[in-house]
Amino acid sequence: MSRRAIVVGASVAGLLAAAALSDLVDEVTVLERDVLPDGPAPRKGLPQGRHAHILLTSGLNAIEALLPGLGLRQRVLAAGGREISLTSGAVMLGPQGWFRRWRHHSHPLLTCSRDLLDATLREAVLGRPRTGLRHARAIALLGSADRVTGVRIADAQGAEEDLRADLVVDAGGRGSRAVQWLAALGITGIREAVVDSGVVYASRVYRMPEGAEGFPLVLVQPDPMDAMPGRAAALVPIEGGRWLASLSGTRGGEPTGDPAAFLRFALGLRHPLVGRLISGAEPLSDVALSRSTRNVRRYFESAVTWPEGFVVLGDATAAFNPVYGQGMSVAALGAQALRRELGGSDTAAPGLARRVQRAAAEAVEAAWSLSSSQDRWFPGVLADRPTLADHVLTRYVRRMTRVAAGSYRVSTAMCDVTTLQKDGSRLLRPSLLLATLGGPVLPPLAGPPLTEAERAILHGLDRVGSPSRP
Ligand SMILES: Cc1cc2nc3c(=O)[nH]c(=O)nc-3n(C[C@H](O)[C@H](O)[C@H](O)COP(=O)(O)OP(=O)(O)OC[C@H]3O[C@@H](n4cnc5c(N)ncnc54)[C@H](O)[C@@H]3O)c2cc1C
Repeated sequence: MSRRAIVVGASVAGLLAAAALSDLVDEVTVLERDVLPDGPAPRKGLPQGRHAHILLTSGLNAIEALLPGLGLRQRVLAAGGREISLTSGAVMLGPQGWFRRWRHHSHPLLTCSRDLLDATLREAVLGRPRTGLRHARAIALLGSADRVTGVRIADAQGAEEDLRADLVVDAGGRGSRAVQWLAALGITGIREAVVDSGVVYASRVYRMPEGAEGFPLVLVQPDPMDAMPGRAAALVPIEGGRWLASLSGTRGGEPTGDPAAFLRFALGLRHPLVGRLISGAEPLSDVALSRSTRNVRRYFESAVTWPEGFVVLGDATAAFNPVYGQGMSVAALGAQALRRELGGSDTAAPGLARRVQRAAAEAVEAAWSLSSSQDRWFPGVLADRPTLADHVLTRYVRRMTRVAAGSYRVSTAMCDVTTLQKDGSRLLRPSLLLATLGGPVLPPLAGPPLTEAERAILHGLDRVGSPSRP
């Protein structure tokens, strides 16, 4: 019997879910309400595309496994993106000080514009056999509380049609209507948790100065325990010889869309490195703002009843404060869970959708505990009060972060967890507990770990810093 799957949404989660399904069913239809551009270009349904998007090691590995013939890494590099080792190629001020750059290159991150990443995935996935795209908006699920049997769609003129499918995947992003669609079938009570630190993102594109092509990724993070709004910056190299500067601030410390205030904000952070670099770089765009950043987690995997034939993936299940760079990787790990669970089974196998939802929740939970446990300490956060366990864990992670700045072993263990390659229990292993209690092997750094050549680039660009400043 012919098996058909429908995926709602043609962004990272939807495309990767379609890739996972295309070898396992006879036909996959991806529904997208946006008219998709032919190449790397912005589109209405992806407003976050104007902000820095870093693909973590776990996401990169998951995409390479889902699309082995694609060569995502090579394609992005050929188009001018970068692969950067988190342990050696990033200059990062963490909550407890500057992280060292170690000699060993590990934990690769992929940096390029979000438009390039999406265009590369679209070309690879929508060109696969048995996979098609339909320009339409999903408006409801068909079926009952026992089994979803398809989707009701509306075209651009509002004409409605019912499409039948054995499996429906909702990858409709933060604005997903999955909770309402399920309620219409009689499934209610999906638990939702929110940790909203009120983060606003402001981003601007700059021309990268000549000679800076190998300049490190720069990240300046806040300290959530400062009792001040958390202000951060990322300076990310992207294709086309450009830097994408993304600034962010939690409630009370938000950046604005005013281009004149952009540099001031970057200079006013815990360290002005990003501001000093962009002070002499040529801006190529206006400032783009985004407020869709709250941490929200919908516990679909714990629903009392769950219909066969329906799965929710990507931001539709959980969306995170973007400063942790987790969303696309969680989407990719969710698609891998879909492929794994569907592997040997029929799409009609009893309990399959529930199993996929539970398997996908593992990566969701890992990312959620990282982002929500940090964000709940910022002033003005909207969230449940921290529990005693939150207090104890936070003290331990703070100590570990301080030790990581001066210990390769602890630093790489933390990188394993922050890049979502290992879950948080890795940090509680006895050997790591001992290393954390023992303290850092090396003393704290006084300033950003830049090479002589990188310092020269900084001084060439710097229109504001004092010559004595590192
Ligand atoms: C400012 C900002 C910066 C970020 N930075 C990073 C980063 O550095 N690293 C990282 O990994 N993640 C980052 N993220 C998160 C990342 O953007 C998302 O996690 C990722 O896009 C999730 O993809 P998705 O496919 O689940 O949802 P989305 O990308 O939101 O896509 C949903 C798609 O579904 C379509 N759609 C929605 N409803 C319907 C419907 N009813 N019918 C048909 N189509 C529909 C939409 O048009 C859209 O194409 C950032 C997010 C923001 C806001």
